[in-house]
Amino acid sequence: MKAHLATFGDFKCAHCRVVVPSAHLVSGVNNRNHCPYCLWSCHLDLYAAGDRLSACKAPMKPMGLTLKAGRKKYQRSTRGELMLIHQCTECSVLSINRIAADDDAETVLAVFQESLALAHQTHILCEENGIVMLKAGDAKIVYTQLYGHQAEIPMISWA
Ligand SMILES: [Zn+2]
Ligand SMILES: [Zn+2]
Repeated sequence: MKAHLATFGDFKCAHCRVVVPSAHLVSGVNNRNHCPYCLWSCHLDLYAAGDRLSACKAPMKPMGLTLKAGRKKYQRSTRGELMLIHQCTECSVLSINRIAADDDAETVLAVFQESLALAHQTHILCEENGIVMLKAGDAKIVYTQLYGHQAEIPMISWA
């Protein structure tokens, strides 16, 4: 799979093939590593975000959502920032990434809906990595973070 990052240039998404203008790459998020349209990422970093030291370079699928743990324990459940969980399609490594202001909210929601059907093993894998994946009961948190406090939460059964 040809997933390449042109130096200081436009970024071609390894998944949906959309060319993301470099202006998008500097839109409020440091070390942006995922496509704002389909939210797929690329396994580029090894030790820290932005180090670009990984030899893997395989596409990473947005597979769920989590909340960034707040500094204070009591904030953890509802106040943390909404984050995407990416899983490498090649080596299965997990990483969590900030959602950028121009990421497609509908797509983030779709990732959340799909994640509800993930196998139990995937949840275990997340737990082993210290990541608490959001579940059906967290739908309100997801809506509020994506659309603001006035968001109308549709009466969908999140089965
Ligand atoms: Zn894409
Ligand atoms: Zn990988």
